[in-house]
Amino acid sequence: MKRKEFVVFGLGRFGKSVALALADCGCEVLVVDDNEEKIHDIADRVTYAVRANVTDAETLGSLGLKNFDGAIIAIGENLEASVLATILVKELGIPYVLAKVQTETQAKVLKKVGADMVVFPEKETGIRIANKLVHGNFFDAVELSSTYSMMEIGVHEDWVGKNLVELGLRSTYGINVIGMKRNEAFNINPDPKETLRQEDILVVIGKNDVLSKLNVHE
Ligand code: ATP
Repeated sequence: MKRKEFVVFGLGRFGKSVALALADCGCEVLVVDDNEEKIHDIADRVTYAVRANVTDAETLGSLGLKNFDGAIIAIGENLEASVLATILVKELGIPYVLAKVQTETQAKVLKKVGADMVVFPEKETGIRIANKLVHGNFFDAVELSSTYSMMEIGVHEDWVGKNLVELGLRSTYGINVIGMKRNEAFNINPDPKETLRQEDILVVIGKNDVLSKLNVHE
């Protein structure tokens, strides 16, 4: 299978960590930054590191980005450069463009010029950490889409002693139980007639708003 190819513009903390993580996942990674030192530091850890200004359309056009799978725009506060890089990669036909932003205005502008997704890394990390601190039983969720996630949830006090048939979680909350953890053993085909214990953990898929409410019960 062809290895996925990504281009990362900007090697701030976010851009650099995304680039290195993609390389660790076995992807081909091209990074672009106009800072010589940053390019030098990362050069032997990615496929190709190019010192260039992203506003230089000619140089960027010569990088052969046409068939890349995705672009990450991580240029920080320089909105003009982010806008130009987004437009350029979209014009080249790169199917997925993710841009790092700091404000709602930047998010709006970059979406308008074609970014498929915008992320607020500091804000999102802050919210995730606060959730973990507040809800003792908060487990990591896997985002399946902007609406649905897969998540581990604890057994609510009033669920203890009942089984999945009796609880009817699908009809009550619209969630599907796809697995259960008990004493470190993971069962991907839980018996719906099995009586739940306080210490059990259910792996469920459902709507984000429902899941976040189900997580706050202690
Ligand atoms: P982080 O919070 O992820 O560290 P940041 O948003 O504070 O990042 P910077 O630290 O400013 O952003 O990093 C942005 C990177 O983008 C820098 O390495 C900088 O050299 C690079 N950069 C900024 N403008 C351009 C440009 N026009 N062309 C190429 N690289 C650029």
